Amino acid sequence: MARYTESVCRLCRREGEKLYLKGDRCYGDKCSFTKRSYAPGQHGQAAARKKRSEYGLQLREKQKARRIYGVLEKQFRMYYDKAARMGGVTGENLLVLLETRLDNVVYRAGLAQSRAEARQLILHGHYTVNGRKVNIPSFLVKKGDEIAVTAKSKKNAKFATIAELAAVKSIPQWIALDKDALSATVIEMPKREDIDIPIEEHLIVEGYSR
Ligand code: SF4
Repeated sequence: MARYTESVCRLCRREGEKLYLKGDRCYGDKCSFTKRSYAPGQHGQAAARKKRSEYGLQLREKQKARRIYGVLEKQFRMYYDKAARMGGVTGENLLVLLETRLDNVVYRAGLAQSRAEARQLILHGHYTVNGRKVNIPSFLVKKGDEIAVTAKSKKNAKFATIAELAAVKSIPQWIALDKDALSATVIEMPKREDIDIPIEEHLIVEGYSR
């Protein structure tokens, strides 16, 4: 599976804001963005001072969303096309599609410490959806779906740590977490106001509509 190979902290510096790609580390002193908040590379500080064009703003907003959710360009375009066909507000549809990816839901529910970790653990077969093992990070969940850590994986030391962290994590209201069972149910589809990511989705739509 294609994936980003550069340091994810560089992506935050490139976007000029924290994208929270490393889970708990992003909230502490170890966050490298708090030390160096300008773009990486020799000309990073000069680039930060440059005013962006309308096209530049649209492009950066799309890149930011792709990086937060860990989606490559081709797949992101497929989400956009699907969102445009759904009716209603395309930008909001796009965010809801991204938000209901299995890797995002696993992360939001506290069953992994970051989206990247969720992707890896899903690929290794540690979760079920409605009792069936699913190893596809882009699987889209729907209302009523139950996501759970497999019985075998619960005995794994990794999930003992995850269980401790899940017990104190704040979970969005559209997901109900059973901390003891290490399972989560999608009680309703997320709405725009439930999605707390720093994205102006109308810029992404404008970029694709050019
Ligand atoms: Fe971004 Fe997190 Fe790295 Fe900070 S620690 S720069 S928020 S990925």
